[in-house]
Amino acid sequence: MIAYAPRVSTTRTYRTCPLCEATCGLAIDLGGDDGREVRGVRGDEADPFSRGYLCPKAYGLKALHEDPDRLRMPLVRGTDGELHEASWDDAFAVTLERLGAIKAKHGADAIAVYLGNPSAHSLDAMIYGQVFLRTLGSKQRYSASSADQLPKMVTAALMFGGALTIPVPDLDRTQHLLVLGANPLASNGSLTTAPDVSGRLDQLRARGGTIVVVDPRRTESAERADEHVAIRPGGDAAFLLAIVHVLFAEGLVRLGACEGRVRGLDEVKAIAARFAPERVAARTGIDAAIIRRLARAHAAAPAAACYGRIGTTCQEFGTLASWAVDLVNVLTGNLDRAGGAMFTTPAAMTGRNRKRSDARFGRFVSKVKGLPEMFGELPVAALADEIESSDEARPRAIVTIAGNPLVSAPGAGRMARAFAALEFRVAVDPYVNATTRLADVILPPPSPLERSHYDVALYQLAVRNVARYSAPTFAPTPGRPAEWEILLTLAKGMMGMAAAPLAMADDFAVRELVARELADLTEAGTPAPVDAAGALAALGARRGPARVVDALLRLGPYGDGFGARPGGLTLDVLERDHPHGIDLGALEPRLPGLLRTGDGLVDLAPALVVDDLPRLEAALDVAPPDLVLVGRRDLRSNTSWMHNLTPLIKGPDRCTLRVHPTDAARLGLADGGSARVTSRAGEVVAPVEVSDELRPGVVSLPHGFGHDLPGVRMGVARAHAGVNVNLVSDEAFVDVPSGNAAFNGVPVTIVPS
Ligand code: SF4
Repeated sequence: MIAYAPRVSTTRTYRTCPLCEATCGLAIDLGGDDGREVRGVRGDEADPFSRGYLCPKAYGLKALHEDPDRLRMPLVRGTDGELHEASWDDAFAVTLERLGAIKAKHGADAIAVYLGNPSAHSLDAMIYGQVFLRTLGSKQRYSASSADQLPKMVTAALMFGGALTIPVPDLDRTQHLLVLGANPLASNGSLTTAPDVSGRLDQLRARGGTIVVVDPRRTESAERADEHVAIRPGGDAAFLLAIVHVLFAEGLVRLGACEGRVRGLDEVKAIAARFAPERVAARTGIDAAIIRRLARAHAAAPAAACYGRIGTTCQEFGTLASWAVDLVNVLTGNLDRAGGAMFTTPAAMTGRNRKRSDARFGRFVSKVKGLPEMFGELPVAALADEIESSDEARPRAIVTIAGNPLVSAPGAGRMARAFAALEFRVAVDPYVNATTRLADVILPPPSPLERSHYDVALYQLAVRNVARYSAPTFAPTPGRPAEWEILLTLAKGMMGMAAAPLAMADDFAVRELVARELADLTEAGTPAPVDAAGALAALGARRGPARVVDALLRLGPYGDGFGARPGGLTLDVLERDHPHGIDLGALEPRLPGLLRTGDGLVDLAPALVVDDLPRLEAALDVAPPDLVLVGRRDLRSNTSWMHNLTPLIKGPDRCTLRVHPTDAARLGLADGGSARVTSRAGEVVAPVEVSDELRPGVVSLPHGFGHDLPGVRMGVARAHAGVNVNLVSDEAFVDVPSGNAAFNGVPVTIVPS
């Protein structure tokens, strides 16, 4: 292990909460004989971004740190078929020997990799997960992105040039917010980093602004809104295109900051002409008059933002809906203006100066379904097919990193069979969960409190420009590698350099990353202030992800440019002078410099998107299914492992099937009874909760449950097992252009059970 200088514990430390996208600042009180006991967790009043806010999930950090079920040592499957504790050396040796043998015999593509959602909240995994993927060289890469926000990344790359060049609603200045398929009061914001989103929405209304929520369910956010419009699941693209139709038809189109900076406007006008409100009314379930009124209100607002989230991305027309969200922003003159939908200027990000577009898709396709590669990954909806294919180059092994795809991916029953058929499974994960119970080796990373943290990804989507670095609250336990050390050990081992010192591999990885950033700068016509060797020397004694953050900060817009801009931001400055983080200001206009679309214009009609319109138009003329299933988010839950934390799972059973009273009556379902839910993919039996919050014809189950499988070692979660909604979600039901899983709008039948 690399020598580590521990931070001296004080009674109160500060760090960013890593449990959701809001990035709240926490004040953590420590005590106990050795100072390693978490005595309290509260919001950090001095954090300039979250200003003392925290949600109940933050208390889960203590429970997570202390959870006896959280693995501290690796587990390796023995000849008796059971998982047994092993030394780190033995666990790495088994892993590298088996993965190496499979790669040597069948090639790199025989090893699939799946990155779960928590890896986006782990600095170690964000940086060194990519190092591992690069050295492995497998095309069989999957992540939770394709069960979440991939359509938005696709349309952002096509329209603006960057996969994370995603406009965020300028919540603090907008006067009119149109929200589709999002429940920020439960999620705390997603693809929009906004601590205390509840307070920000209250302020929006207090200054006279309005909120409209379009959702099949009357969510917590809909309850708070001025208007709730109960759309049919999957109707968002048609609804938004009808809004665009009204904008053109009534002469309401204003390009604002995009004037002279778009292409495809005439094509969009012609497309919109086909989506009159009357034509989409049946599919969307929304009266034409309401659509027209909402379009006029949006266009008339002094500043408005259209924002869509999981209900718009995880559905059968996810790419079209994601595109249409930003069409509305552009065509009402609200893109890139204060109070509209704006782009963040993050302090640290990789590829910041890259000039070429990220929009490179379909360089290969999945073997069975033919789903296209997106940003170097295949959609997770293709994973089970790929494993079970007869192709010689099929995956024979998998490495999951902070992932539980047997719970979080579509078609969970099929996925479980596929995983069981693999020759070898490795998990970098702290729990023996539904997926890792099948692993041959589990390599557990340390508690989040033993890691450094910087939200490299989430600060790209923040509603203010901010930077905050958290040093480890506790020094790592001696003898236990950090997550980045686990991933780097695997990376160098897969390169045939298992014996090479970790420090040498780290130097190599960081030099490569910095060299890429400097090359981007040069390509962009900006003289690089230093070469890679000089940068590495200037970065000093830090190792691991903190060194990378320092490099990215220094090369960023507020950075010291490695001496070129004296007084600029460095990690030393951030740590020393801003222990609560630094506010770098409100969002500012970024066009046209931000655009990486080749011609420097916003592409309003990308071919990949436009080519999917006939599928949507065909759906307008088809009667919707009798009953469809949608998901549900709870404030105290984000990922499946949170169900093992008592503060986050206690209370009434949350894993219920919510059914509208009308549907309950016609189906013979009773509140408190149970129902069998069946789809093409599978079935579950769930307790019924009759609720008029749903649109008739729509039922809802939350995700992340189903913890009672044999071998799961999560005692608290097992006691609140619930049912796995993804036994019913269907891996064949996807957003066609992106291959993203369509969890919302799954046709189901329901009978009493
Ligand atoms: S809102 Fe998110 S970041 Fe903030 S305390 Fe809750 S879980 Fe943590």
